[in-house]
Amino acid sequence: TRILQFSSKVKSTWYSASSFSSSVPTVKLFIDGKFVESKSDKWIDIHNPATNEVIGRVPQATKAEMDAAVASCKRAFPAWADTSVLSRQQVMLRYQQLIKENLKEIAKLITLEQGKTLADAEGDVFRGLQVVEHACSVTSLMLGETMPSITKDMDLYSYRLPLGVCAGIAPFNFPAMIPLWMFPMAMVCGNTFIMKPSERVPGATMLLAKLLQDSGAPDGTLNIIHGQHEAVNFICDHPNIKAISFVGSNQAGEYIFERGSRNGKRVQANMGAKNHGVVMPDANKENALNQLVGAAFGAAGQRCMALSTAIFVGEAKKWLPELVDRAKNLRVNAGDQPGADLGPLITPQAKERVCHLIDSGTKEGASILLDGRKIKVKGYENGNFVGPTIISNVKPNMTCYKEEIFGPVLVVLETETLDEAIKIVNDNPYGNGTAIFTTSGATARKYSHLVDVGQVGVNVPIPVPLPMFSFTGSRSSFRGDTNFYGKQGIHFYTQLKTITSQWKEDDATLSSPAVA
Ligand code: NAD
Repeated sequence: TRILQFSSKVKSTWYSASSFSSSVPTVKLFIDGKFVESKSDKWIDIHNPATNEVIGRVPQATKAEMDAAVASCKRAFPAWADTSVLSRQQVMLRYQQLIKENLKEIAKLITLEQGKTLADAEGDVFRGLQVVEHACSVTSLMLGETMPSITKDMDLYSYRLPLGVCAGIAPFNFPAMIPLWMFPMAMVCGNTFIMKPSERVPGATMLLAKLLQDSGAPDGTLNIIHGQHEAVNFICDHPNIKAISFVGSNQAGEYIFERGSRNGKRVQANMGAKNHGVVMPDANKENALNQLVGAAFGAAGQRCMALSTAIFVGEAKKWLPELVDRAKNLRVNAGDQPGADLGPLITPQAKERVCHLIDSGTKEGASILLDGRKIKVKGYENGNFVGPTIISNVKPNMTCYKEEIFGPVLVVLETETLDEAIKIVNDNPYGNGTAIFTTSGATARKYSHLVDVGQVGVNVPIPVPLPMFSFTGSRSSFRGDTNFYGKQGIHFYTQLKTITSQWKEDDATLSSPAVA
């Protein structure tokens, strides 16, 4: 068996010393500052997607364990909320340093459990790290507002205050970045946090919890539970949890948004996508095709911002054969192998689903220009690999267009005009991301202005905003009204208290008291 070597820090949270030998290691819970073995009798296998070997087991936490996690958060809240904002900032300053020092270790865990290439995994950690760095600006971000002299002797001012216990539910595709969108932002504001990572990729979150503890976060400020539906329902229903951050599929997100909201919680839910890249005939061809290939097939298409749909406008369609040539050159391999451009899909079921959607394209009249269904990767014959696939002649009523494929598959549509392309994008229910490739500023301006999508790239294929902005997917890609990270993230995890105060000038001490 190919073995990635891990440090003792990883072993203390998850890959125990016996890892990879006879017994299968178990993922711990993190409760009240301790990494503890679950007493659950329900466990889920974790697989290496490149081999489908079982590499560990994650518990479905018991009700008592989940209750203990909430109780721990609740106990820790008053003192943490009262800890000075400068001290909370110091914890995050140490945390960003420890994440940098352990970046490669976290990335190895991601590659092992999730399958993406080590370079992609390092990017995953790096994008999360940027959110932690941004959280260090809390001293400016959490400022309230003031209005002096609203009437005689009266001033009005507001504070941004934490909510209490908040919770996060994360997907499998960014095991470090997405949890880091959640608990650092919530905690720096003075909240305590219950994190439920994806049951398929819990490792990165466990190591991140250990590093946060080493940065000085007090016991109980972060608790981690594991599980699936029961854990999710528990979070949606528990009266002491005030807010839920969710990232994942529409099926789960809409359910969590509704159930959590019904129970009076704030919920923000980032969900699925179908992101269109519009290629204009005046585009810089080299740049457009390279960007398209990277954004469609990178991370095996398992990115919510993958550019999974291309619209070639007018003469740009002549570039299709060149696009195919570039996609053919990508190297598909296990994520830890040198030179790999893309790794496997997360599960055999995901592979089957993606292949089924490619099949549907042929049945419904599209053409397969490049077919990755039968790919074999030497040494990894049991892995969930699908090679880069390009489907052309796609129409908006086809299944492969309507469904989020979440694999290394690019569907290609053609239009004669920019207006037709904009109509297609705006008729699609999702509004996560889009990009236009053009050398005309006026065309780019028109597209950015008219397209009804929350994140727009101009010659930038994956326009995920840096954390001083917010992740602003829209329409069916988002439920809630306050986005992740940036100022919006601070708003999500805080509530306002507004104070109107009157100190009458007449009551002011007129002169200093006489000195005896
Ligand atoms: P998923 O919805 O299957 O899982 C996400 C979380 O919800 C997991 O923790 C899981 O345990 C839980 N869950 C799953 N099904 C559930 C159900 N029926 N009821 C309650 N809880 C449930 O998503 P995934 O497969 O892990 O991630 C892929 C999806 O996430 C894609 O649709 C992708 O577009 C989306 N995504 C969106 C963003 C974004 O920011 N918009 C980012 C990353 C991923």
